[in-house]
Formats: sequence, C-alpha cells, structure tokens
Amino acid sequence: MKRFLSVLPNDVKRPLRNARDFVIRVKNLMLYQGKNHFCPVCQKSLRAFAPYGRSRRKGALCIYCGSLERHRLLWLYLTQKTDLFDGRPKDVLHIAPEPCFKPIFHQKLGSGYITADLNDDHVMVKMDITNIQYPDASFDVILCSHVLEHVPDDRKAMREFWRVLKPTGWAILLVPIMAEVTFEDPSIVDPQARFIAFGQEDHVRVYGRDFPDRLRGAGFTVQTTTVTDLVPDPEAAVQMGLTKDSGEIYFCTKLPG
Ligand SMILES: [Zn+2]
Repeated sequence: MKRFLSVLPNDVKRPLRNARDFVIRVKNLMLYQGKNHFCPVCQKSLRAFAPYGRSRRKGALCIYCGSLERHRLLWLYLTQKTDLFDGRPKDVLHIAPEPCFKPIFHQKLGSGYITADLNDDHVMVKMDITNIQYPDASFDVILCSHVLEHVPDDRKAMREFWRVLKPTGWAILLVPIMAEVTFEDPSIVDPQARFIAFGQEDHVRVYGRDFPDRLRGAGFTVQTTTVTDLVPDPEAAVQMGLTKDSGEIYFCTKLPG
C-alpha cells in the first residue's frame, strides 16, 4: 500500500492516505478498546498495547497517543520525580521531541519550551547536538531520548548538554541499552553492516550498561531509576505495559555526586 501510494500525485495521495489512516484507526479501536491496561501519558484505558517495531514486540504501543514503554516510563518519572510541571517558568530543551509528548509539553511548559532536531522540520530549532548554538547555562531542563545512538561523537554531544545546562538544572539522557559493554566501530558505515553490528541501519553503536559512566565522563552526576523503583507494584507495571526490559531513567545533574 505504501509503495502504491508513493507513486501517486499528492492531490490523489492525500485523501487516500486519510482514508487508510481512518480505517487503521477504526480497526485499532475495535481491536484494542477495553479496560485491562492503562496509558499514563494519555490517561486512556485499553484492552492491550499493540505490537511495535520490526520484531512486532508485543504490549508496546498505545494506539491512542503512540506512547511506547520507554515513553510511559519517562512520563511517570517526569510527573512523579521531577519539578517539570510545577508551574514555575523553565527553559526546557527537548531534542527529537516524541509526538506523544510534544502537545502536552507545549501546553504545560509554555514559552520556555524549545523543540530541536537536526533533520526533522517539525521542530522550533534546527540543532546539531555536538555544536549547540546556545550560550553556557541556558537551560533548566534537557530531554534527549534515543538520539545519542545515532551520533558519531556522542561524548561531544554529552559535553555540549553539560555546557548549556544551568548549574541547578537537570537532564534526562536516554539510549537503548542492548549489551553489557558499549560497542562501537567508526569504520562500520554501510547501512546493512550497521544493521548487523548495531541492530539498526542508522545506529553508530550499541550501548551497554556502562552508558552512565560515559555521562559521568562528560561531567554529569547520574542517578539511575529502574521500572521497579518507579512502579514497585508488579500488577500496576503490567497494567501500564512496563517490564524490567522497558529501560531505565538516567537523571543527570551538574551537582557533585
Ligand atoms: Zn496513550
């Protein structure tokens, strides 16, 4: 269907796409409407989270807001453990903003909220995170999830985040942790070879459990929070589609550890 649509002119493509999206929405509603699970991001109940990704990972996607496990975990952390939504004005830098968060953050954070990305046009600022165009100590909060695994010089990006963070600010810098020890090889540049080595055509490394050490190397103090720390009740975790494999939160500050 995707290939079929791509060869059509735009004025034919658009209504067909809208019709296709409508059919998918109705199908999803019929399949996933229910009460067994709950998405904390959009506050909606559903029968199940939908499969997602190449491997069709089960119990992943909220059909209402598009949140995945890592988004729901981050949302719980932001709302329960941080001052992000306490109503006080903040300068917030959000890299590669997730569609499930963007409208909520815009509404709750107001004019201090800046979205940025290197390639996506639907953000406020075009930004190379290894060369950030803001002065030192510009932001109270920096959010950057699942971006650094695409960045060749990730240590420079981390140092840039440290530089533009205010002394009292905090950052949440997340990556997929897929190994015990980080593996990278800058000589692997072919997309297919990257897929084999790093699991995705546009990834430049596989991060391991030593990722927080790399953040510390950039000057951050890092506090790690697991799913169990955040949601101790296993039933509540299952209800929100979270497992121990849903990731961890790395909360970074410039304060001494
Ligand atoms: Zn949702």
